[in-house]
Amino acid sequence: MDMNNFSPIYWSAPYQREVVAKIIGINNNEVQVDKALFYPSGGGQLSDLGIIVYQQQEVKVVGIEKREDGNWLQIDPVGNSILEEGIEVLLKLDWDRRYSFMKSHSSQHLISHVLKRLFDVETLKANFDDEKIDIEISRNLSEAEILEVLQESNRLINEGAEVISIIVDKEEYKRKYRDVARGKISNENKVRLIQLGEGEGYDLTCCGGVHIKNLSEIKGVFLDSFKGISLKFFINKHGIDSLNKQRILMINLEDVTAKRGEKLVEMLVNKLNESKILHEGNLRLLKMIFSEIASRSQEINGKKMVFLNLPEIDRQTLQAAARELEKEFFIVVLGRNAILYFISTNEKLSAKEINDKIIEKTGSKGGGNKGFAQVNVKNIEDPLELVKEVLTMFNY
Ligand SMILES: [Zn+2]
Repeated sequence: MDMNNFSPIYWSAPYQREVVAKIIGINNNEVQVDKALFYPSGGGQLSDLGIIVYQQQEVKVVGIEKREDGNWLQIDPVGNSILEEGIEVLLKLDWDRRYSFMKSHSSQHLISHVLKRLFDVETLKANFDDEKIDIEISRNLSEAEILEVLQESNRLINEGAEVISIIVDKEEYKRKYRDVARGKISNENKVRLIQLGEGEGYDLTCCGGVHIKNLSEIKGVFLDSFKGISLKFFINKHGIDSLNKQRILMINLEDVTAKRGEKLVEMLVNKLNESKILHEGNLRLLKMIFSEIASRSQEINGKKMVFLNLPEIDRQTLQAAARELEKEFFIVVLGRNAILYFISTNEKLSAKEINDKIIEKTGSKGGGNKGFAQVNVKNIEDPLELVKEVLTMFNY
């Protein structure tokens, strides 16, 4: 392939779904063709798939290998014997897959652009799937900031901002674009830039991927979830469907609680806050108990053990408090919903081993590791007494 005139079809005509091409190389289960219709993957975008048609027979393209001597189409062994070097074939894209990736990928350009412009936040990583986008960003955002990102992205989609492809040589890139464009350039002599929108505040990125022509094709960007620096979005039909599903769930909740819209949200927020306050209160209490645990301990078979009955305590609180625990202790806690917990900082006493003994003896459900294990003891009359018996019996 002549890299000086590198302008693949997926750049120059991303909406072209098929082309007649000549087979210029063939190995066992791979062929090389003289037209670059299939995108070979890169920049977080997966490769195209499709078929090769020859004399009314179809051979599946199942992947693309990028190698120094160019791109090789990986083909399904079934039917590939009809192909040979020099023949002209018809290449056909799996268009639904390609178009979905074009939309997801362009949405990521848009979201990254808006993040940068509104909050000077960088996109560190991006992955796309069918109408889904996962990104990692340079700092946590507040809910209000995320809402602003969504609103601005959807405004640009509604406005129908153009996605413009610019191909220049390296010299021109250095002269005109290097200081204003985001992203890194590739090894090719040509540099491909993608511009979102026109006029002031437009976005310019170096990118070899495949894009749509106009942001309006995305229809909309919708939040799936966010946690720390990780954001997930849906776009297009997937986003609209998911939003409507959420709304139906909300309507059901409204029926159950007899609280409408904002009142329901307010109620749920209050419940959440209550449980947070309860959790924090319990955590303080537990840390206090754990800090003077020595005075509560008893010795069984020469080992320091503590038995606590704390029906308000859940697993999350217990695990948070357990980090404060000194060495050489073994603690048994009967917590909320009749769950029995074992916490061990004693190398010689595995929480899991003793937990397994209780499971064996009672047939209850549970699990864990040597530092922390739990078992459901709903049907056991005096679980703490049972543990003491087991410890004595097995000479722990
Ligand atoms: Zn791109």
